[in-house]
Amino acid sequence: MKKRVLLIICICLSLLLIILSSAIYLIYIQKLITENTLKNLAELTKQDSIKIENKIEEDFRVLNNICDEIEINNLTNAQSIFELYERNELKTNFTRMAIMYQNGNTITSDGENVNLKDEVEYFFESDDVQISRSRKSKIDMQEINIYFKKINLENEPIVIMLIAETDAYERLFANSIYNGRGYEYIITSKGVMIANSANQENTQNIFESLREDIDLKENQNKIEEMESDINKAQNGQKIMKINNYNYYISYTNIGISDWNVLIITPESIVAEELQEVITISTVITIIIIISIIAISVYIIYSNIKKKRELYELAYIDPITKLGNYYYFCKEGQKLLDISTNSNNYVIILSIEKFQSFNKHYGHNTGNNLLIEIGNKLNKQNIVCRLSNDVFGIITQTTNIKEEAEKIFESLSKIKVKDETYSVYPIIGIYQCKQNEQILEAIDKATIAHDEIVGDYNKKYCIFDETMENRILEEHEIEEIMDEALGNEEFEIYYQPKINILDEKVVSAEALVRWNRNGKMISPGKFIPLFEKNRFILKLDLYIFEKVCKDIKEFNLKNITFSVNVSKEHFNTLDFIDEYDKIAKKYKINPKNIELEITESAGIDTNITNIMKEIKKRGFNISLDDFGTGYSSLNMLQDMPIDVLKIDKSFIDKIGNSKIDIIKHIINMANELGIITVAEGVETKEQVKYLKNVGCTIIQGYYYSKPLNKNQFIEYVSSYLQFKL
Ligand code: C2E
Ligand code: CA
Ligand code: CA
Repeated sequence: MKKRVLLIICICLSLLLIILSSAIYLIYIQKLITENTLKNLAELTKQDSIKIENKIEEDFRVLNNICDEIEINNLTNAQSIFELYERNELKTNFTRMAIMYQNGNTITSDGENVNLKDEVEYFFESDDVQISRSRKSKIDMQEINIYFKKINLENEPIVIMLIAETDAYERLFANSIYNGRGYEYIITSKGVMIANSANQENTQNIFESLREDIDLKENQNKIEEMESDINKAQNGQKIMKINNYNYYISYTNIGISDWNVLIITPESIVAEELQEVITISTVITIIIIISIIAISVYIIYSNIKKKRELYELAYIDPITKLGNYYYFCKEGQKLLDISTNSNNYVIILSIEKFQSFNKHYGHNTGNNLLIEIGNKLNKQNIVCRLSNDVFGIITQTTNIKEEAEKIFESLSKIKVKDETYSVYPIIGIYQCKQNEQILEAIDKATIAHDEIVGDYNKKYCIFDETMENRILEEHEIEEIMDEALGNEEFEIYYQPKINILDEKVVSAEALVRWNRNGKMISPGKFIPLFEKNRFILKLDLYIFEKVCKDIKEFNLKNITFSVNVSKEHFNTLDFIDEYDKIAKKYKINPKNIELEITESAGIDTNITNIMKEIKKRGFNISLDDFGTGYSSLNMLQDMPIDVLKIDKSFIDKIGNSKIDIIKHIINMANELGIITVAEGVETKEQVKYLKNVGCTIIQGYYYSKPLNKNQFIEYVSSYLQFKL
């Protein structure tokens, strides 16, 4: 969130920076264009003043030449003077020639006669060649300028005049100043107009007309400066506001006269040039802004995409596309936090023997199965896959038992790509309290779940506090079990097995006891836990080795020993090697050892193979707790067993009417050459019955409880003595 705000601030700042720098750039460009325009204007003014100066100079020269010739040739006759003029190559510069006499009488080369007596003083004043202001010709009313020079002819002064059209100067002006939007003037040092490009009468005074039009407040100084510059024949440029528009003014003195070239152009010509620059820079700025926005959008988009990917990596299970453990904790906690009732249940669900399913049908089918399970559970409030085959569910319901049944039923048959598979869901449930922490709820639902792992009689289990206490106890046990093994706290008790016919001890079963600080803990308290945490694998081998040592020590002929082997070993055949090695180490004939395999291990091809391997190594096999599992009598013929141990639950029924089953089992076993052992025999009546039905061996409190090593030796020897 913070990062995004920072990014947006950065983008806004850089946009602002771009706009600001383009503005600064434009101001700079405007200044540059203004300067450049003024420079160009000054240049233009200069060029035109030179052109006009050249013309005036040339015309002066023509007049001087004519005057010189008149004087040299002493031409007194007007006719001959005009002829001189007519012969002059440059006469085309002028419209006519005139001779003015002292009385003001003036005659022209084209035969006109005018009297200029009011101006005699003006024309006769100087001896130098001069040029007049613009005036209207009295002959043809054209606007003209007069070049004149006073000469003395036979001591009488006359003025020779060459008359030029004012238009001739205007034709020298720059063809078109800034597309006709600029004006050019020739003015005298006092501002009187000589010629102009604006088709105005050349009678006005430019200073006066400017003063009328300009904003005097702002331009007072400028116009005064301009007047003073022009008066002093100096050049210059000004920017003035005329009728509310800015105008650029440039002026240059034309040498050899008090004339000046003045150019006035509106500022809009600068604006036009500027407009082009503005258009280009606006386009560039827009391109830059669009690029920045595009880059920013790309960065933001890829950030969002990256975030989404990271989110998926962190919270989504890639197989089922459900949330994972972290998602479950996060969203589950949110749901528990906002919920105000106690109808929230956390369910931990796994699939019994999913690993075997994977092995059997392949991981691909296993994954598809998980996806289908996810689909079926999806109508619950939250469904996540927490690990392998473990799903976490949060459901809100007023009838959790019904809901749990529904979940169980919905998962028991699952279709994966046209094949229907039977799976056995294990469902642990915890009812959340208000303000419950999700992790605690998961722990407690897991406790309930673990409670029924392997128990096919229950469809689900709802957590209660006693489970937690037991779990605590189990935790304590788990913490000390390794140490206990090292301290030799696990001891062996031997329970004798008696031949029913001669009542001799023929065998003994090794049964583990945990001697915790002098207090004997019976295996029922720790074996199931050790099977769950697989510590049993170590313990069984430890017991087996101890038994082998004891057998060596007892050195009892005609007595075999049986040792319990947990079904947890049966995932591989490797454990048989270990048993074999230990027996060899103590030089015990495996024939004297019976391995007790409990019937609830499930009799399938795997177990049968294991039994065959055990037999190969020479050990005897007894099938323990027969009658509690699912195996039927028919299965016995396929199994390589030596001994069948009839479970105590059958023996307990002796005395009741429906006990034919024991008889049946014993008959079947006898037919197959399998020895029968009756477990948990406590009464004389039971012994009698078992003898009658042909049972071979009796194990039970009737003869002896499990005994410690010394007691066992004593029992065997006294028994032998007694029997003898
Ligand atoms: P199990 O293999 O069925 O062992 C027989 C159990 O019945 C023993 O209980 C024994 O003390 C008891 N028992 C024998 N005769 C009578 C009787 O007349 N009346 C009554 N009420 N009980 C009798 P224990 O020693 O408590 O062992 C319980 C179970 O723990 C064993 O059942 C066996 O499954 C397991 N176990 C014991 N030691 C080991 C071992 O070293 N490794 C493994 N994997 N399991 C063991
Ligand atoms: Ca046993
Ligand atoms: Ca048993």
